[in-house]
Amino acid sequence: KLYNLLQDLKGNIRVYCRVRPQKINTPTPVLIEDDHITIITPSKYSKEGRKSFRFNKVFGPSATQEEVFSDMQPLIRSVLDGYNVCIFAYGQTGSGKTHTMTGPKELTEESRGVNYRALNDLFHMSEARRETFSYEISVQMMEIYNEQVRDLLATGGINKKLEIRSSSQKGGLAVPDANVVPVSTTSEVIELMTLGHKNRAVSFTAINDRSSRSHSCLTVHVQGRDLVSGTVLRGSMHLVDLAGSERVDKSEAKGECLKEATYINKSLSALGDVIASLAQKNSHVPYRNSKLTQLLQDSLGGQAKTLMFVHISPEYDAVGESLSTLKFAERVA
Ligand code: ADP
Ligand code: MG
Repeated sequence: KLYNLLQDLKGNIRVYCRVRPQKINTPTPVLIEDDHITIITPSKYSKEGRKSFRFNKVFGPSATQEEVFSDMQPLIRSVLDGYNVCIFAYGQTGSGKTHTMTGPKELTEESRGVNYRALNDLFHMSEARRETFSYEISVQMMEIYNEQVRDLLATGGINKKLEIRSSSQKGGLAVPDANVVPVSTTSEVIELMTLGHKNRAVSFTAINDRSSRSHSCLTVHVQGRDLVSGTVLRGSMHLVDLAGSERVDKSEAKGECLKEATYINKSLSALGDVIASLAQKNSHVPYRNSKLTQLLQDSLGGQAKTLMFVHISPEYDAVGESLSTLKFAERVA
C-alpha cells in the first residue's frame, strides 16, 4: 500500500511486468509472487543465485489479455479528459510484446491486445458522454527504423521519410505528414492495423524479422468539444511496440545488422534515460537523443501518463536478457 502511495506521489510512470507462457514444459527460472518477480540465476549473474524485482504489477503466464487490460481503464479515460498517455512494450524478441499490444496472429475477441481494447474503450466512453461532449478520434501508425520515421498508413508507399516537429508547437501533431485517419468503430481500427502491418512487412523484404528491428507506434488523437461551453480538449495516446531489446554481439554482427543493432541500442537507451530522468524529477530531460523520444516527447513527462510493460521469457536460456530487461525497468520503476 505504502509502495503504491509513493508511486503515485512520484509521478505518472507505472511499470507492469508480464511473463509469457512456456513453449514446452521445462523447469523455469522465473518465480512470481504478488508484485515481485524473482529470477533464479547461474552464479555468473549473482552470488546469491537469485535476483528479485518489484513493479506496480507482475502478470504471470496465465494472465489473460482481459486481465492485463482491466487495470488500464482509468488511464484510457484520461485521454478523453485531455491527457497525453504513452503505453509501451519492452523486452527481448519473442518475449510477448506484440502479443500484449496487438495479440496473436489469429485474432479473436478474447485474444485482442491493448491497442484494440484501448480504442474500443475510447469509443464506448466517448459514446457515454455524448450528451455533453462531442469527440473526434483519429489514428496514425508509424514505425521508426534505423532512426527514420515512416508512415505505415501512407497510401502512396511508405518509404517517404518523415520529419518530427518540435513539441514547442503545442496542439499540433508531432508528425504532421503522416496520414491521420478518423475512426469510430473497432472494425475500422482492425482494418487499418492490418494495412499497417502489411505495409510494415513489405517495406523491407531483404531483412528477415523486420518487425523486431523497428519500433512501431499507433498514435491516437482525441479531440473533445464541450457542447455547452465550446471548450476543446485534446488528448493523445501512443501505443508502442518497441524493437527487441536483446543485445547483439558487436563482434559478430556485420553491415546492416550492426547498423540496426546500433540504432536500436541508441534509441532504447535514450528512452531509458528520458524515463529515468523523469522518475528522478531531473530538470533536464534528454528528449533530443533519439527519434523515438522526440516522437513521444509530448506524452512523456509533464502531465502525461506513462505505462511501461516489460516482457520476460520464462526459459533458462533467456536469463541474461531477462536480467537486463528487469534492470532497465528497475531504473524507471
Ligand atoms: P515479441 O513481439 O516480443 O517478439 P511475440 O508477442 O511475438 O513476442 O510472442 C512470441 C510468441 O509467444 C508468439 O507466438 C506469441 O503468440 C506467444 N505469446 C507471447 N505472449 C503470450 C501470452 N501471454 N500468452 C500466449 N502466447 C503468448
Ligand atoms: Mg513483436
